[in-house]
Amino acid sequence: MKKLAILLAATALLTACAKSPTGRNQLIIVDANAMTKMGAQSFEDMKGKEKVSTDKKLNQYVQCVAKPILQVLPAKWQDNWEIVVFDSEQVNAFALPGRKIGVYTGILNVTENSDQLAAIIGHEVGHVIANHGAERVSQSTAANALMAGAAVASKDSPYQGAIMAGLGLGAQYGALLPYSRLHESEADVLGLKYLIEAGYQADQSMALWQNMAKLSDGKRPMELLSTHPAPQTRINNLAKHIKKYQSQGVVAQMPRPSCKI
Ligand SMILES: [Zn+2]
Repeated sequence: MKKLAILLAATALLTACAKSPTGRNQLIIVDANAMTKMGAQSFEDMKGKEKVSTDKKLNQYVQCVAKPILQVLPAKWQDNWEIVVFDSEQVNAFALPGRKIGVYTGILNVTENSDQLAAIIGHEVGHVIANHGAERVSQSTAANALMAGAAVASKDSPYQGAIMAGLGLGAQYGALLPYSRLHESEADVLGLKYLIEAGYQADQSMALWQNMAKLSDGKRPMELLSTHPAPQTRINNLAKHIKKYQSQGVVAQMPRPSCKI
């Protein structure tokens, strides 16, 4: 037991000092493989429980919008993403470790154009690339479960709830839990960069959050528009970073995408 404790402590120290893509220090005590496994398992569960859209046009549209975003990610992140459209009126979208993206059809009623959908996908992918799930799991009781070797999100795991919460999924699928203000802002900043580089219009990211803010409280997606940051804070932060990216010479690397429903 003592040996195991020392081993675990050493592993924790070795993996604890990580840096996010924006240069922020992160405490991460779960390894990437465990996160990938948990994300993939949860996604499979979700596909079994929620209605997967078989609408060809809709699926093609979402794939078309996401593709340029995935192509401008750092090289090691570009391939092998799975994108599923869930047939649900919920205004929601999410991305999970293991390179999984879920888009609810309800969000397509809120986005006014492909730039706005791309802004959402960029934001969600930003959470994954910045390892926010691992950071959140590391801060939660799920970390204990993982350290104890119970790194499974299966239904019979007593830690399922904690692990799901770490990934940002409620015990009831479809209830996506809000990230912290810090994680939201970081995902916005990263997503904005992908948006610009993928050839989309940067200012549509601000228009998107304005649309979101207009939704009645009951319809507001928890993950995408929790009470923090407030929509105006978020829009101001995006405006600031649009200028910053301009001054840094961040420009489109792709021709302007033309995806149509
Ligand atoms: Zn988010």
